[in-house]
Amino acid sequence: MDVMQNIQMVDLQSQYLRLKNEIDSAITTVLSSAKYINGPEVNQFATNLAQYLKVAHVIPVANGTDALQIALMALGIGPGDEVITPDFTFIATVEAVALLGATPIMIDVKKDDFTLNETQLEALIASRTKAIIPVHLFGQCANMDAISLIAQKHNIAIVEDSAQALGSEFCGNKQSKAGTVGDIGCTSFFPSKNLGCFGDGGALFTNNDLLAEKMRSIANHGSKIKYYHDTIGVNSRLDTVQAAVLDVKLKYLDDFNARRQKAATYYDNAFMNIENIVVPFRNRNSSHIFHQYTIRVLKGNNLELQKFLEKKGIPSMIYYPVPIHRQKAFGDHIVDSRNFPISNALSHEVISLPMHTELSEQQQEYIVRNVISYFRQ
Ligand SMILES: *Cc1c(COP(=O)(O)O)cnc(C)c1O
Repeated sequence: MDVMQNIQMVDLQSQYLRLKNEIDSAITTVLSSAKYINGPEVNQFATNLAQYLKVAHVIPVANGTDALQIALMALGIGPGDEVITPDFTFIATVEAVALLGATPIMIDVKKDDFTLNETQLEALIASRTKAIIPVHLFGQCANMDAISLIAQKHNIAIVEDSAQALGSEFCGNKQSKAGTVGDIGCTSFFPSKNLGCFGDGGALFTNNDLLAEKMRSIANHGSKIKYYHDTIGVNSRLDTVQAAVLDVKLKYLDDFNARRQKAATYYDNAFMNIENIVVPFRNRNSSHIFHQYTIRVLKGNNLELQKFLEKKGIPSMIYYPVPIHRQKAFGDHIVDSRNFPISNALSHEVISLPMHTELSEQQQEYIVRNVISYFRQ
């Protein structure tokens, strides 16, 4: 009974309690300094994250969606331009494109790792194509070597959506952290992300000095010198309190990711030989840091399993129940749904199980036992 009541999709409270002393002290320092905007912790965190990622520039912003928008603005993307985005992702990836008046061109994903299908990429590239946004979904990288090759050939920018893969190691032509392979990387520090703060936060990464300067200026009202505005920008800052929390948690990011991997291995071993469950595929492009542990249900469907688990006190989530091309928001963007067989199928098959840094084996044993019992009824 106890185990049941404690299972959460993401247990942020227990993680906080484990690191409470360090985090509280960092927050108190900011509170007494009264430097709530652009305090020294913001720069300190950006420097430490740049070092961790081995990237030249980290630009902290207010959230991951802003990061995507600012990246596209820095690339000069607007009306008349096309940007290729996966059809199976969180809406923010595509929203940023549409908000700037550019046209998102959706591409189907692969059944195994759920990332964009690079074999269909070249056919979608037109003279108006300005960028590709690969999404490193659920914690592992898209095939960046193949995508980079095509992007280079057609002179198209790559903006990596690394909101779900911070700390994942891309092991292609050269070993690099997710988000530092393309021209610009974007991430989110939403509380439930692998590196999460206690509110909203995000960041941009790049090795390109010119793009870094542009993005810094865009995030700051298009300004480099206070009250002198060179372009139309936005107001997007990471709060000092959030930066202080993130700077503490960054030291534990590899440990957080290792704990998630351990939990994933437990699930893998339990489900591997169960008929009608497909465990997450681990591609050869990168390490998998399991932002989500997402299985595919081949008998019954994800909604039915979700209801079944709910009755046992086990939370689960369906990422994503509706592919982007079928979202009402993109209803005027006429595409043929038959071009997206995989994202359509996945929307009925995928289900993400509890995954976080505080999951106990006792809890996992209970989850596993109940998931398996759904398939044996
Ligand atoms: C979380 C997320 C975002 C957006 O991040 P916010 O900080 O919530 O704006 C963008 N893309 C993906 C894939 C995400 O998971």
